[in-house]
Amino acid sequence: MSKYVERVLKETAARNANEPEFLQAVDEVLTTLDPVLKKNPQYEANAILERMVEPERVVMFRVPWVDDKGVVRVNRGYRIQMNSAIGPYKGGLRFDPTVNLGVLKFLAFEQVFKNSLTTLPMGGGKGGSDFNPKQSPHTPGKRCSDAEVMRFCQSFMTELFRHIGPDTDVPAGDMNVGGREIGYLFGQYKRLANEWTGVLTGKGLSFGGSLIRPEATGYGDIYFAENMLAMRGEKFEGKKCVISGSGNVASFAAQKLMQLGATVMTLSDRSGAIFCAQGITEKMLNDIMFLKNVKRGELADFAKKTKAVKFFPGKNSWQIADKIDAAFPCARQNELNGKDAEYLLKHGCKLVGEGANMPSTPDAIAAFLKAKIMYSPGKASNAGGVATSGLEMSQNSERLSWTAEEVDSKLKGIMKSIHDNAWEAAAKYGDKGNYVMGANIAGFVKVADAMVAQGVC
Ligand code: NAP
Repeated sequence: MSKYVERVLKETAARNANEPEFLQAVDEVLTTLDPVLKKNPQYEANAILERMVEPERVVMFRVPWVDDKGVVRVNRGYRIQMNSAIGPYKGGLRFDPTVNLGVLKFLAFEQVFKNSLTTLPMGGGKGGSDFNPKQSPHTPGKRCSDAEVMRFCQSFMTELFRHIGPDTDVPAGDMNVGGREIGYLFGQYKRLANEWTGVLTGKGLSFGGSLIRPEATGYGDIYFAENMLAMRGEKFEGKKCVISGSGNVASFAAQKLMQLGATVMTLSDRSGAIFCAQGITEKMLNDIMFLKNVKRGELADFAKKTKAVKFFPGKNSWQIADKIDAAFPCARQNELNGKDAEYLLKHGCKLVGEGANMPSTPDAIAAFLKAKIMYSPGKASNAGGVATSGLEMSQNSERLSWTAEEVDSKLKGIMKSIHDNAWEAAAKYGDKGNYVMGANIAGFVKVADAMVAQGVC
């Protein structure tokens, strides 16, 4: 590791000692950049790494709201505006009790490189709250009601609206922030700003949303993996796949895999994992999507009613199947550890395509790279979601809606170019097939060059 990288890592660790996820993400990127830093001394001379690890702005705010019993509740809201060198800040909002400054800084940092990889003009940001829509504050075991979620979203946006805008910062959804939440947030923004603009993406189709946006992250993950397979002359047909999660990314990744003739054997959630050796069927997947998105239930409930699946309470998806060709972590950060990686490799896994952000721990990543399997980091393979958000912004600016086929074909093209750019950057800098290094370098160079050109700011 170069002295420059070593120094920045040390300073970043000292400054952000209580933010382990952020430090993990910074470490993962910076330790792959030596070859490009050596060839480009202007980056060190302009303190590019030092500036990239410091958010341009962090907004933290109180979110007071009233629950259905009339009790005042207080949550904490955040927006991390990480880097705007190549476009307005762009990145999702996450509502989850695990949200804190370090988690959002890791996500915002990743987002900078991911957005750069899409080739669209988008900077990086991320935000959210420790609000938990899945647990009512007054009735154990019950979720927040729609009215409570609405009041929370309205209060959250009442502060956030002054910090965002269609040319400043355009948030979207992330964990626990789907169509319902984006609708409430958009309604409140419009009311406060007195204007209808594409200030959020992931909107409903009746008010400026884009076709294929809900599908985009999961589909994009599989399109990226198809490109990796194509490099080896292979296809998905007949491949046995395991997926974690059963939310937005996981369910559409599963749908695309099924369309391509693969067998999807697992899905999971906080209650545990379901397993079906013959493959989860399209009908089962539709039922699961209805259960998760409309009834807001758990896979444990689904397993009780479905004889064809086995349920593993509290387990993740990795150490269940005997023969595995490909794995898609699509739930959350650090959900696949070294032991899981070992199991996957031992049971035949040749491809890991991350749909979630930073789902593999550093030892799992090291194992995949050592085994030289096809491994794509989330910042490359889950970029289809934000890319399609970028397409939603374009449609809003043009006051036009493109057809599903148009958006899907643009998404496919973008995923191919992300794949090819990562592949080429890795080859150019001496580690062919290493998509971690390739994606980091390809994402970094564009942002770094823009920062150098824009002077010290
Ligand atoms: P989501 O719809 O909320 O789904 C998240 C899934 O992960 C759910 O099945 C959830 O289970 C599961 N999960 C969360 N915490 C868990 C835990 N502690 N243990 C076991 N399972 C857990 O979120 P999403 O939008 O699919 O996002 C999933 C990942 O993809 C995140 O890392 C997100 O940052 C990343 N991502 C999303 C997008 C996007 O467009 N949505 C784009 C890029 C990256 P429960 O249902 O039981 O909570």
